[in-house]
Amino acid sequence: MRVIVQHIPPETSVDPSGSFSKGSGEIGVELLCVVKAVLKKIKRRVLVGDKVLVGSIDWVDRRGAIENVFQRKTEILDPPVANVDHLLVLFSMDQPKIEPFSLTRFLVEAESTGIPLTLALNKSELVSQEEIKAWKSRLRSWAYEPIFCSVDSKRGLDTLQFIMREQTSVIVGPSGVGKSSLINALRDNKHILGAVEEKNWFDPQILGSKWYEEQRVGEVSVRSGRGKHTTRHVSLLPLPDGGYLADTPGFNQPSLIKVTKNSLAHHFPEIRKVLKDSEPAKCAFNNCLHLGEPGCLIKGDWERYPYYLQLLDEIKIREEFQ
Ligand code: GDP
Repeated sequence: MRVIVQHIPPETSVDPSGSFSKGSGEIGVELLCVVKAVLKKIKRRVLVGDKVLVGSIDWVDRRGAIENVFQRKTEILDPPVANVDHLLVLFSMDQPKIEPFSLTRFLVEAESTGIPLTLALNKSELVSQEEIKAWKSRLRSWAYEPIFCSVDSKRGLDTLQFIMREQTSVIVGPSGVGKSSLINALRDNKHILGAVEEKNWFDPQILGSKWYEEQRVGEVSVRSGRGKHTTRHVSLLPLPDGGYLADTPGFNQPSLIKVTKNSLAHHFPEIRKVLKDSEPAKCAFNNCLHLGEPGCLIKGDWERYPYYLQLLDEIKIREEFQ
C-alpha cells in the first residue's frame, strides 16, 4: 500500500549505525509499504486514512514496512476508511429526483457515524430556481444548510472544495446522483493535480533516515465481499489545501446498523435542537421514544415525524431479532 510521509522526527534522521541511508526523506513523498507480519498476526488491519509508523525505509526505491497503526479518531466501513472527518452526502435534484424518505435514511446513517456532514444537491441545472428555493427552505426546517451544485455546469464546485479543505472527506449517496462524476471533477481540477505534483516531488538531497512516523496510508486494496478473489481499491486523493478525498463513494444502501431505537431521535438535528433548547428540562422518561409518552417534550408536528416512526419500526424489528 502507498503511504504518504507526514512527519519525520528530527532526532532520528540519521541512521543509528552512523551512516546515512540511501536517498532522502521528505514530507509528502509516497512510499510503497508492506505490512509487517506482527501486525497481521494480531489481526491489526490497516485502512486507508490510517496514521502509521513506518520502518525499514529505502528512500531510493521508496519502500518501507508498516510497523504500527495509531489509534483511529473515526472509522467507516463502506468504503473502509479511517480518520474520516467529513462526510459529503450527495443527492440530485433530478434524474433521480430527490426523495425525502431516502434522503432521511442517508442522513440518519451519516449522522450515526458521529462525523460532521455537508448535504449537497447535484444536477441543480435541471430544475427551476423556484424548486431550489423550495428545497432550501424545506431542508432548513430539517436543520440542514444544503449546497446546490452541478458537476455538468460546474456550479458550486468551488464551495465544495472550500468546505473539504484540510479534511479527509468521503462522498456518500445513492446510485446515479453524480458521486463518481463529482470525484472525477475534483480530481481533474487543475489545482488538485498541481498539488499532487508539488507535494509528491522527491528531492534527491541526502538526509538519511531510518525511522519516521505518522504517515497517512494513501491507498489500500480491500476485499469487496463481492467475490472470492475480487478486491476493491480505495485511494485518498490529495486536495489543494491539505485535505483528502476518498476516490470511492460510500454507503449507497444505508444499513442503519449503528442506530438503536433510543439513539434514533438524536440523528434528526431538528429534534436534537428541540431537546437542547429545552434544557435543563428533559422528557419524563430516560428512554422516551417520543411516541406520546407522558411528559414527552417532542410533539408529532414536524415534517419528518412519519419517517422517524417508519425507521423506528424497522429498528425495533431488527433489535427483536438480534
Ligand atoms: P453515481 O452513481 O452517484 O456515481 O453517479 P455518476 O457519477 O455515475 O453519474 C450518473 C449520471 O449522472 C451520469 O450519466 C452523469 O453524467 C450524470 N451527471 C452527473 N452530474 C451531473 C450534473 O451535474 N448534471 C446532469 N444533468 N447530469 C449529471
